[in-house]
Amino acid sequence: MIVILLGPPGAGKGTQATRLMDKHGFVQLSTGDMLRDAIAKGTELGKKAKSIMDAGKLVEDSIILDMIRERLVDGNHKKGVILDGFPRTLTQAEELDAMLTEMELGIDHVIEMQVDEQMLADRIVKRAAESEQVRDDDTVEVLQQRLKVYHDSTAPIIPYYRVKGALSVVDGMQTIESVASAIDDIIGGWEV
Ligand code: AMP
Repeated sequence: MIVILLGPPGAGKGTQATRLMDKHGFVQLSTGDMLRDAIAKGTELGKKAKSIMDAGKLVEDSIILDMIRERLVDGNHKKGVILDGFPRTLTQAEELDAMLTEMELGIDHVIEMQVDEQMLADRIVKRAAESEQVRDDDTVEVLQQRLKVYHDSTAPIIPYYRVKGALSVVDGMQTIESVASAIDDIIGGWEV
C-alpha cells in the first residue's frame, strides 16, 4: 500500500507518519528527514540543501526524485509506504506516477490534512522547543515563507489527485488520536 500525507508545514504529517509506521508497520519515507540526515552527515547534497531549507524554499525536483527513486526500488512497498513531505510540486507528483507505473504500482490513498493556518505558528514554536533535532527552519518567519511555498507550489497537486479519485481529507485540527483514527478509517485494516 502506498499512502501520501499532504498538508502545510506543522499540519502533523510527521506525527501521523510515525504512528502509521509504529502501529501498521509502514515504511516512512520523509524527504525532509532524508535531507536533514544529509546535512547532519555533511554530504555535498546536505551542504547544497541547507541554505535552501533554512530559507523555507524547495530543494530542486531532480534531487528529491533521485532520493525517492533510490528508496522505492528496494521493494519496501510490500510493507506499505507512507510518503511524508513528498510530492511537493506537480512535477514531483507526475514523476512519482511515472516511477510507480514502471514498477507496476499505484498510489492507494492521498490524505490531505487540513489545518487552520493561524494555529500553525503555535505548533511550529512548540515543535521547535520540543524537538531533539535542530531545525533552523522551525521559526515563525520561515514558516510564513514555507506556507507561501505550500500555497504556490504544493497546493496545486491537491486537484491533481482529486480528479484521479485518490484524495481524502481529514481535519488536522482534531487531537492526534482523532486524526489517527480518521486516517485508519481511510486506509482500512491494513497490517503487514
Ligand atoms: P519537511 O521536514 O517535510 O517540512 O521539509 C523540510 C524542508 O526540506 C522543506 O521546507 C524543503 O526545503 C525541503 N524539502 C522536503 N521535502 C521536499 C520536497 N519533496 N521537495 C522539495 N523540497 C523538500
